[in-house]
Amino acid sequence: MIELQGVRAGYGAINILWDVSLSIRQGELTTIIGPNGAGKTTLLRAIMGLIPLSQGVVQLDGRPLSGVPTWKMPSLGVVMIPEGRMVFKEMTVEENLMLGAFTKQHRAGARKQCDRAYEMFPRLYERRHRPAGTLSGGEAQMLAMGRGLMADPRVLIIDEPSLGLAPVIVNELFETLARLKGEGRTIVLVEQSTHRAVGVADHVYLLQTGKVVLSQKAAETDMARLHDLYFAH
Ligand code: ATP
Repeated sequence: MIELQGVRAGYGAINILWDVSLSIRQGELTTIIGPNGAGKTTLLRAIMGLIPLSQGVVQLDGRPLSGVPTWKMPSLGVVMIPEGRMVFKEMTVEENLMLGAFTKQHRAGARKQCDRAYEMFPRLYERRHRPAGTLSGGEAQMLAMGRGLMADPRVLIIDEPSLGLAPVIVNELFETLARLKGEGRTIVLVEQSTHRAVGVADHVYLLQTGKVVLSQKAAETDMARLHDLYFAH
């Protein structure tokens, strides 16, 4: 569904990703793991068109995605939920949700999608009139996910959703991811919680210093070997 071939990208003169090739298959949960600074977020930014590619291509359903502006991605069914949640703290929970349906194509169905988000995250419904800044970390992550779902995406790209959350909330989060996968959505998950990510994933990519060093079916992943590769430099 999404294919990267020989992607190089970085920030100005500094290159971070080195000839990254990978496939995101439809209906699967693909996890991209790797130590701090490996380039996971940079990879997601390259897919979303937030940074230019200096080499290689990104394709969606066989068509080049490179050059499509980021704001048009939801219209193509691709949505990213950024690291750090990025909710607008002074706006209410519902106003934040509605922002997820900003494109003309999604505006008409916004009310219905908002109700679906409340169904998935009842706590957001309870807090719908409160400023997003009053939410706990777990609730803010739910809001960021609910906002992403407002565009009813085919592909949901999620960057480190468990960051800073209590273990019990992380459990809920992973249940939600499994549910989203059950709905048939394609998910790309960047995670530090390696065990959990591999547990919920279909396919695993390990990134090290901007290179893919392991690509494997999650069910065939040997955690001890993964651990060794993860910490190898
Ligand atoms: P983390 O788990 O810490 O988020 P990551 O694997 O997502 O790690 P990236 O955030 O992609 O890693 O960062 C990869 C490298 O790119 C790091 O060396 C980082 O310092 C650098 N980097 C990230 N963002 C920028 C930026 N906006 N400008 C310059 N360098 C950046």
